Amino acid sequence: MARTVLVTGGNRGIGLAIARAFAEQGDRVAVTHRGSGAPEGLFGVKCDITDPEAVDAAFATVEKELGAVEVLVANAGITDDTLLMRMSEDQFTRVIDTNLTGAFRCAKRASTKMLRARWGRIIFISSVIGLYGGPGQVNYAASKAGLVGMARSITRELGSRNITANVVAPGFIDTEMTDVLSEARREEILKAIPAGRLAAPGEVAQAVTFLAGDGAAYISGAVVPVDGGLGMGH
Ligand code: NDP
Repeated sequence: MARTVLVTGGNRGIGLAIARAFAEQGDRVAVTHRGSGAPEGLFGVKCDITDPEAVDAAFATVEKELGAVEVLVANAGITDDTLLMRMSEDQFTRVIDTNLTGAFRCAKRASTKMLRARWGRIIFISSVIGLYGGPGQVNYAASKAGLVGMARSITRELGSRNITANVVAPGFIDTEMTDVLSEARREEILKAIPAGRLAAPGEVAQAVTFLAGDGAAYISGAVVPVDGGLGMGH
């Protein structure tokens, strides 16, 4: 059955691969963007997830055009890396506000209609860094670890209403976010990944569409790694 899917940050990178995967299986897909417009074939809504009013307006537009959001993929995220000693209060807060509070705003807005429909799927895109940690990533790791507690609390609150909340934790994926890594850091990372390579965004999308499907109805509060073995043991 075709579903209405909203992917935040679905205009590029991992989010775009996820949006395309849902569209390919026949779902009605909306993506948020911050002014770039939507990639061809996808329905776009302008939304900065740090603005609660913009989140509300984006959901209202999707509801009007495609129907209530049945599958939310909270994917939009940023990094702002620097060592703890040098990290400003603003650098910490900005990353938390986007990656964690932004996901909360979207999940909260989506949950109202999911409760009414007694069906819903919420998928948070976290990171291997959330549980593994990363030098210079105190803000980012904290935001991504927070998504695990959020998904598990939502599971406890809404699990009896056919609503699941899960976390997908990608390792290192070939996107603009990893393009900025230095050659030395990239070498170091590759050595630590059992698979010996970065992944393509589409490999994350496979896990997301699975969790959104009817076959995953009994999976909730899970952290699904897509990391080539990098984070094993968590
Ligand atoms: P990109 O940097 O390629 O894309 C980030 C996306 O998030 C863009 O669509 C961007 O929109 C959107 N975004 C950022 N801030 C906001 C905001 N305030 N409001 C709305 N949208 C926003 O990142 P990736 O595709 O690589 O990453 C996607 C997700 O996957 C992120 O949450 C990231 O943390 C996570 N991840 C990525 C990994 C990787 O190796 N690449 C590994 C593990 C996790 P815009 O185009 O307007 O800037």
